[in-house]
Amino acid sequence: MEKVKISLARPDVSEQDIAAVVEALRSGRLSCGPKLEVFERDIAAFVGSKHAVGLSSGTAALHLCLLALGVGPGAEVITSPFSFVASANCILYAGARPVFVDIDEKTLNIDASKIEAAITPQTRAILPVHVFGRPCEIGQIMAIAERHRLIVLEDSCEALGARVNGQSAGTFGRAGVFAFYANKQITTGEGGMIVTDDDELARVCRSLRNQGRGDSAEWLEHPRLGYNFRMTEMQGAMGSSQLRRLGEFMQGRADVAARYAELLSDCEEVILPTAYPSNITPSWFVYVVQLRDEFTEEDRNAVIQKLREEGIECSTYFPAIHLQKYFRDKYGYRKGDFPVTERVSERTLALPFHPRLSAADAERVTSTLKAALSTLPARYSAAR
Ligand SMILES: *Cc1c(COP(=O)(O)O)cnc(C)c1O
Repeated sequence: MEKVKISLARPDVSEQDIAAVVEALRSGRLSCGPKLEVFERDIAAFVGSKHAVGLSSGTAALHLCLLALGVGPGAEVITSPFSFVASANCILYAGARPVFVDIDEKTLNIDASKIEAAITPQTRAILPVHVFGRPCEIGQIMAIAERHRLIVLEDSCEALGARVNGQSAGTFGRAGVFAFYANKQITTGEGGMIVTDDDELARVCRSLRNQGRGDSAEWLEHPRLGYNFRMTEMQGAMGSSQLRRLGEFMQGRADVAARYAELLSDCEEVILPTAYPSNITPSWFVYVVQLRDEFTEEDRNAVIQKLREEGIECSTYFPAIHLQKYFRDKYGYRKGDFPVTERVSERTLALPFHPRLSAADAERVTSTLKAALSTLPARYSAAR
């Protein structure tokens, strides 16, 4: 019997989104036009930043920011090894060196108390990630950065809508970056955005995304080496349309997270996402649970395999960045270098998660998960 698949993520595209994209297509202006400018103004207004610069992806946005900030060869950038690889790759693209600092086991974000020990005379920037839409200890990180005169670039790609004391994630540092890939809180298919209050940084980023063109917009005048990291009018139109429903999406995601927490409250084998302090407004990106320490990576992989066999898409989230082959090869990282990250990444699994995941599907996911956990080797019975 073929089981109906429950997907890991699913974009929510409305008739209005489709109409907005069609309108852009019919406008005769497919790139470098008014829809992108509107989307940039919408994002800047939503997060409360002076500027927003739209890009072809979140990765491109991180890359350009580091270039525009002058972080390059010889510089070290402190970041988290527990993230999507793009947050560390952008440091390599810029020719700088990523310096990892282990995470806090409760928040899964970079452990701010360990940052100062990693600062050297070469450190230029801190690149914290708001992992899974939960803001990191940005207040502490800003204080450290001020003490040591370091730039802070926030990877807020998973955190659109998240707030700390009412202030948007992405607006604390010199710049913040959002992403609009299909699994993010809002999507433009592919896309990214830099937000900043720094006039000069915004100006340079606009030039760099458009082949290094000058401000005069003289068509073929290129005062600097730039890239083609532009966002299209179709993406801009879709972004503004999606952003209008961000509140609804965030509520839908929070409701699904609450339902999972309720359904898994009696499941002793797993650790659920840690509760948020009251000064934090989360923006749920994924729903990730951890098997308890008694379990192994093989146990976690067996659980994922069983869920997949039952038609439930789930995934490891995240494999540790420092243990990816090219990081090991380049910097000689080994297992044991960042023990909290490794322990967590060996035991996490992301469950199907999107704003419209039905109560029946959540029930099927959690009952299948419980059944899979009950088949793990009996040597773990002490944990039950
Ligand atoms: C999604 C994401 C990015 C950017 O991804 P793109 O697919 O390039 O838009 C960067 N960092 C993190 C942590 C992400 O989750």
